[in-house]
Amino acid sequence: MCGIVGHIGTKNTKNILLDGLQELEYRGYDSAGIAIFNKNNIYTYKAVGKLTNLEKKVSSLELNGFSIGIGHTRWATHGKPTEVNAHPHYGVKTYVVHNGIIENYQELKKELEKDGTEFCSQTDTEVFVHLFEKYQKKAKNDYEAFKCALSDIKGSYAILLMTESNSKTLFLPRKVLL
Ligand code: GLU
Repeated sequence: MCGIVGHIGTKNTKNILLDGLQELEYRGYDSAGIAIFNKNNIYTYKAVGKLTNLEKKVSSLELNGFSIGIGHTRWATHGKPTEVNAHPHYGVKTYVVHNGIIENYQELKKELEKDGTEFCSQTDTEVFVHLFEKYQKKAKNDYEAFKCALSDIKGSYAILLMTESNSKTLFLPRKVLL
């Protein structure tokens, strides 16, 4: 079982995410990662093993003003505990952390691959980010795209998704937290 944490605001998002992940360490994990939007930049970091490995990688990151961030400690269910499989997973402009299992990910992945989507990881989670971006192209707004992607997946989950389209947005649904 893993943990997810998110923050929006002008406080130090990096420290808030790392502190939040530390609070969740007791749940157990094999890797960790964060993604932060700040001043038109996106910063992503992932590390296998203890949170201190991630903290070292992030140590030189300085944020300025308003930011949006998501963080994750992973307990692998689909795919080995590698850096590539660590969350956040991303598409073109969207970043996702996910706690739980997307049970029908294989059929969703096949469909997306047929349409030309390339996958980087072995996780079930990655389908969600690509599904969202597929719907984002045709939905009237990001919220609608998010709802469409959610209606395609089966399983138990907590998900945090941030996307950068017209405006930067953070979404959180929760269905039967494990
Ligand atoms: N099923 C996802 C994975 O294997 C999330 C696991 C978790 O809850 O940490 O990456």
